[in-house]
Amino acid sequence: MTPDLSALVDSIVARMGAAEDRGQVASYIPELAKVDPAQFGIAIATADGRMLTGGDADTSFSIQSISKVFALTLALGKVGDQLWQRVGREPSGNAFNSIVQLEQEHGIPRNPFINAGAIVVADVNLGGHQPRVAIGEMLRFVRYLSGDDSIAINEDVAASETTTGFRNMALANYMRAFGNVRHPVDLVLGTYFHQCAIEMSCRQLALAGRYLMLDGRHPDGGRVVSPGRARRINALMLTCGHYDASGDFAFRVGIPGKSGVGGGILAIVPGRAAIAVWCPGLNDNGNSMLGTQALQMLAEATGWSVFSAP
Ligand code: GLU
Repeated sequence: MTPDLSALVDSIVARMGAAEDRGQVASYIPELAKVDPAQFGIAIATADGRMLTGGDADTSFSIQSISKVFALTLALGKVGDQLWQRVGREPSGNAFNSIVQLEQEHGIPRNPFINAGAIVVADVNLGGHQPRVAIGEMLRFVRYLSGDDSIAINEDVAASETTTGFRNMALANYMRAFGNVRHPVDLVLGTYFHQCAIEMSCRQLALAGRYLMLDGRHPDGGRVVSPGRARRINALMLTCGHYDASGDFAFRVGIPGKSGVGGGILAIVPGRAAIAVWCPGLNDNGNSMLGTQALQMLAEATGWSVFSAP
């Protein structure tokens, strides 16, 4: 039997508030280094329409790589399974910003959730338009998913990454040499950096993730993606959503999840819940340290897992 979720959320917030080791806030994007590591938020949107929140659940943060889930959804809508000719579907076993596999694999990134893969996805989403068109589309999409028009981009974060994102520039240029990035690199990265700089709260993020717990349906009745596509996006989140710690996340938490260096994680329990947690301090793999612990605590207490009978 599922325990009282509201009491569970309260005990998770209390436990995370008391934690001493909170990891390190990302500092390679200067704007992110300014975020207060003492914050923690959690929001759970359940399949039966309830919303449970705790801590700083209404504080906006930089969603960073969590945007890769929404960008992938849009790109699949544009080019369908042709996307997989340009991006793989295997865990990389490497850091989020690694370049090493690209040479051996002829400029085809391992998956859409490492930076190289997300840059190719941004190239697809650009589709011959100016970055502002692709960015506007992405913003409208997350607003529609969460039913909240106040979601916006933090331009300071986007600018911060534009001036310091040398590794991403290297990745994009390297893939352009293989013909797997097709637009000018500055336009592709402009799109990518702005999608990463979208700010959302845990509440907004959990709401935006509902289509992935509902077999691709928006709770308003509309269809976002087919059931098969929702299942596959969840599969990629489980196998590739935490970079080179994806296996460890599957082992400890056991549900699909996508993390971002802003300290957020979106996690999906198919048929049951869309969960967002946020705590800015990261572990050595660049995933939220306490966010992961909170999800592990939640999964253990509820029994939520894609590896066991419901
Ligand atoms: N914008 C970040 C980067 O490209 C995203 C990384 C992440 O969230 O993991 O480095």
